Amino acid sequence: MLTGKVALITGAARGIGRAIATGLAEHGAAVAVNYRTSEGAALELVKEIEAQGGEALLCRADVSDRGQVTAMIATIVDTWGGIDILVNNAGIMEDNFLVDITLEEWERVINVNLRGAFLCTQAVIPLLQARGGGRIINISSQAALAGSRRHVHYATAKAGLLGFTYSLAKELGPYGITVNAVSPGRIVTDMIKERMQGREEEWLQQTPLQRLGEPEEVAAAVVFLASEKASYITGTNLQVDGGLLMG
Ligand code: NAD
Repeated sequence: MLTGKVALITGAARGIGRAIATGLAEHGAAVAVNYRTSEGAALELVKEIEAQGGEALLCRADVSDRGQVTAMIATIVDTWGGIDILVNNAGIMEDNFLVDITLEEWERVINVNLRGAFLCTQAVIPLLQARGGGRIINISSQAALAGSRRHVHYATAKAGLLGFTYSLAKELGPYGITVNAVSPGRIVTDMIKERMQGREEEWLQQTPLQRLGEPEEVAAAVVFLASEKASYITGTNLQVDGGLLMG
């Protein structure tokens, strides 16, 4: 389904990004596995994909640093000649009431979640145009639409990603490039494991499907949006949240 396509997944060493990289590779894409610090986990993923007969490339870069993003993209182009799919997945969450958020914390959260998507996307657009089309998929969050106490910076960045998605879909439609967002609800990864402690029952009750999500369930939505089957879908936000937003 994605044979011959090259995908860059940011923050792919673990969690949802790892599942996305695995899912895209299983469908035939060559995957660039971006990580910032978790080299061991990223390398393990690359080896796992290669052992399954897929192609993968280890790509260290802090997505909020323009120089590192430029160097990473150049390495991918040197290796595979271009890029067809970008998944802006790298993200961080910090917990604080707005009154206590320092400027440094605010900028850290906005920079990874929003500036990172801006830098990676801006660098990749000419490559997608050169291929005659492509896919950009931004991992937002249910928090963008519902809000989240003690996460004003995170929810603001994720809501920003939705505006980014809709506006860019309008700009890039004429080039055959689709731009969509996927907004997970509560998915079992390192990001939420600690935050979940003592609140699991409450979270389950808030979720119509009465369970938390798995990274692979988010990855399935991303694989679909990356595929030819989603050729007429652009400027959407797909909730993968067990009904949490509605519930
Ligand atoms: P995670 O913490 O397991 O993974 C995030 C990854 O991003 C990590 O590998 C981390 O090292 C990487 N990363 C962080 N800063 C980076 C940087 N500057 N440059 C490159 N990589 C960087 O969390 P996850 O749950 O897998 O989250 C993946 C995405 O899904 C995030 O954007 C997150 O906000 C979003 N999300 C997660 C949930 C959830 O319930 N888990 C819900 C909604 C949205």
